[in-house]
Amino acid sequence: MRKKRDTFLINGKTCIHCMDCKQIKPIEEFGKNGPSWFQAYCKPCANARNKAYQSKYYERQKHKNTKAVMPGSPELELFINMMIKELAL
Ligand SMILES: [Zn+2]
Repeated sequence: MRKKRDTFLINGKTCIHCMDCKQIKPIEEFGKNGPSWFQAYCKPCANARNKAYQSKYYERQKHKNTKAVMPGSPELELFINMMIKELAL
């Protein structure tokens, strides 16, 4: 069973602690993650994390593509040798 998050009652509003910005915010500020469960991060923090993750992901994809279209690059040769070795096993 999941441990229930600590909630705070401030001005009649249920508030929870954001694990990122460490601020206590009303639950409306958090994205819902299941019926009785709230995300660990408030919306601004979750958005920032999403963006950071996405740009990292795209950066990696771009990098991967760059390598793939560079014929004769040492990385490509290494990769091919690796594949040949793997196939030979
Ligand atoms: Zn936050």
